[in-house]
Amino acid sequence: MNDSPRSVDRREALAAIGLAAAALPSLAMAQPPSVTTPNAPAPKDGGKPPIAVVPANAAPAELKIFDEASGQFVLPALPYAKEALEPHIDAQTMEIHHGKHHAAYVAGVNKALGELARIRTAAGDSALIKHWANQVSFHLSGHVNHALFWNMLAPAGKGGGGAPGGELAKAIAASFGSFEQFVAQFKATAASVEGGGWAWLAVEPWSKQLVLIQQEKQQDMWVTGAQPVLGIDVWEHAYYLKYQNKRADYVAAFLNVVNWRFCESLFARAVR
Ligand code: MN
Repeated sequence: MNDSPRSVDRREALAAIGLAAAALPSLAMAQPPSVTTPNAPAPKDGGKPPIAVVPANAAPAELKIFDEASGQFVLPALPYAKEALEPHIDAQTMEIHHGKHHAAYVAGVNKALGELARIRTAAGDSALIKHWANQVSFHLSGHVNHALFWNMLAPAGKGGGGAPGGELAKAIAASFGSFEQFVAQFKATAASVEGGGWAWLAVEPWSKQLVLIQQEKQQDMWVTGAQPVLGIDVWEHAYYLKYQNKRADYVAAFLNVVNWRFCESLFARAVR
C-alpha cells in the first residue's frame, strides 16, 4: 500500500496532462502502475481515494526512477562505466548526457510536481498550471526515456551489438521482412527525425505489432501508448561532441552497442 501524499501528487500531475498512470507503458515499466483497490479502507482524511501499488517485482533494478521513501524521482546510475561504450559513444558525451541532461530532467519533474502541489494549497499561482503540467510532461518523459536508453546499451562485444534472438527476432522478421531490412529502416528513421527527438522500435499496443516511429518531442510516445523496445536519442547532445553533423555515423555506431537482451525483455513485457 502506498497512500503517501507525494504519490497522490504524481497521479494528479499525470491526470493534469490528461493521462492515467496505467496507460503509460514506459512509466508503468519503470514504476508499477497505480491502481485503486475497491475494498481498501477509506483514507484517514476521507478525501483522496486509496492507492494500492502493484509490487515492482518485474521491473529491472536499473529502472528505479522513483524513490518511494523520499517521494522524489531519482537519477539511476549508469549500468556501466562512462567510457564502456567507446569508441562508439565517447565517455565525455556519456558523462554530460547522463550527469547533466538526464539529471536536469529529474530535477525538472521534481520541481514541477512541487510547484503543482503549492498551487493546490493556494501557495502557488494557479495561472501557471498549464506551464507546470507541461513541465511534468517534458521532464518526466525525458527521465523515463533516458532511464530506458542507458539500459538499451551495453559495451560492444560484452552484451552490446549483434542481433536480437528469441521472440523479438521472430517479430522483427515478421514486421520488417528481415533483420537487415529492419536495420536499414531504423537507420533511415533515426537519421530523418527533425530537430531533436527520438526514433523508437516499439510495440503498438492495440495490434501488438512492431513499428518504427519518430518522436519530435520526447513526450510524444506517451500519447500513442506505444511500448518501447529500442530507442535512440538523436538530440544533438547525444552525439555532437564526437560526430558533429554526421548523425548517420552515430546511428550506425549506436547499433554496435545495442543491448538486445534488454530489448528482448522489453518486448516480452509489451506483448504478454
Ligand atoms: Mn538525451
